[in-house]
Amino acid sequence: MGRIEIRRNILEANENLARRNRDFFASNDVLVVNVMAAPGAGKTSTILKTIESLADQYAFAVIEGDMASRIDADVMAERGIPVEQINTGNMCHLDANMIREAAGKFTYDRPTILFIENVGNLVCPSEFSLGEDLNIVIASTTEGHDKPYKYPSIYLRADAVLINKIDLLEAMEFDRKMFCDGVAAVKPMPPLFEISCRNGSGLDDWACWLASECERKLGGTRGKLAEG
Ligand code: MG
Ligand code: ZN
Repeated sequence: MGRIEIRRNILEANENLARRNRDFFASNDVLVVNVMAAPGAGKTSTILKTIESLADQYAFAVIEGDMASRIDADVMAERGIPVEQINTGNMCHLDANMIREAAGKFTYDRPTILFIENVGNLVCPSEFSLGEDLNIVIASTTEGHDKPYKYPSIYLRADAVLINKIDLLEAMEFDRKMFCDGVAAVKPMPPLFEISCRNGSGLDDWACWLASECERKLGGTRGKLAEG
């Protein structure tokens, strides 16, 4: 078997497992958000701030993906958030099988938003479906406005794009227009939220959008159950 064929088989097997995850999440009233970003963009901070904003509306769970350590999982656990850490070792992305195992460890007794913090990487996380409902890409002003041009495939998957550390926009000489043009070159511009986890700006709009997406999925399944 050639290398291309092996890779195709791996991706196909992953798609099958992702479909099973999707059924599992749907039947448990779970909205799954796959959070992708470069290291240091603020994935963990954004997840924490989002949970703070929506804590009275939904239950939450978090799966942390890192090559090593439980630093982020410990942060979540300290705040009483149900969390599973996946250490991928030499793998630079999460896959559907890892999610199946970790997601099965939570109990879902009311509508839940499950955040999956993918490994900090702008390349292969975009290739591996996990059974998620939403793919979120977090960019940050500190990493520069050229990333959509250099890593288009991750932006192709984005259902929403967040620009974090927006309070540093001027200091970092981040060119908002160049960034947005880069995303729009890949796909019709998805919802864009400019946020700062440090001063809280923009987080309400983002949380509000996420809640409406959640109602669309979970409200829908509740409606169907009520009908019958
Ligand atoms: Mg993190
Ligand atoms: Zn990888």
